[in-house]
Amino acid sequence: MQYFIFCKERILLVAGKIPTQLNSAWLLTAPKSELEFHFGDETCCAIEVSEPLSLSESEDWVDLRATFDVLSLREHQAAGKARELLYWDDQTRFCSHCGTPLEAGILFSKRCPQCGKEHWTVITPAIIVAVHRNDEILLTRSHTMRGNYMGLVAGFVEPGESLEECVRREVREETNLEITNIRYFGSQPWPYPSVQMIGFHADYLSGEIEIQREELVKAGWYSRENLPEIPGKVSLARKLIDDWLSWEK
Ligand SMILES: [Zn+2]
Repeated sequence: MQYFIFCKERILLVAGKIPTQLNSAWLLTAPKSELEFHFGDETCCAIEVSEPLSLSESEDWVDLRATFDVLSLREHQAAGKARELLYWDDQTRFCSHCGTPLEAGILFSKRCPQCGKEHWTVITPAIIVAVHRNDEILLTRSHTMRGNYMGLVAGFVEPGESLEECVRREVREETNLEITNIRYFGSQPWPYPSVQMIGFHADYLSGEIEIQREELVKAGWYSRENLPEIPGKVSLARKLIDDWLSWEK
């Protein structure tokens, strides 16, 4: 059994690995949350603690994003799933309909003992798009990005719109550009806290860049030769950019 032990977005690693045994010293106070889940054929355990505990030298709290470079892809994905489940568990302490404390139910669902409403895990869809104009790509920097890199237009899907409509709207809102030839690239769970990123490529159609100041710091067209710093390999943004970099010129 692997133990995915979190304190907010940081996960406990022992000698750079996910622990396979519980050390009682890690759980001096009762965990805020503890649940079992399956990842592939394996049963795993997700635990949330309130305070990071003082640890021995080989033990460390690591930001979940940073574990992409340390763990195997499978372990990183399982850790993301654990994080999403712990977040959901924390966010569904009470029934949103009648306020009654909820009881643990089957995996991914809780049932209100008072009104019977079922509370399933919630995943929020968001699009991300690489827009192309000849040999250039549209890169943007939003106010919320960490580090100094440039990323891609992205945003949450609104009620009543298709993914393609969302892609078109986000590009228009953030940069004032019109696009065409929207094509699906791939998707990726993004456990910050529970987003499903859905990635697309699209081609520039018309317009001049005019950024949405509330969302973006800057935006521009970049060629392979003058690429700024780009997002880390953990992100779907990077996979889209790497895909474009692999295309024949
Ligand atoms: Zn209820």
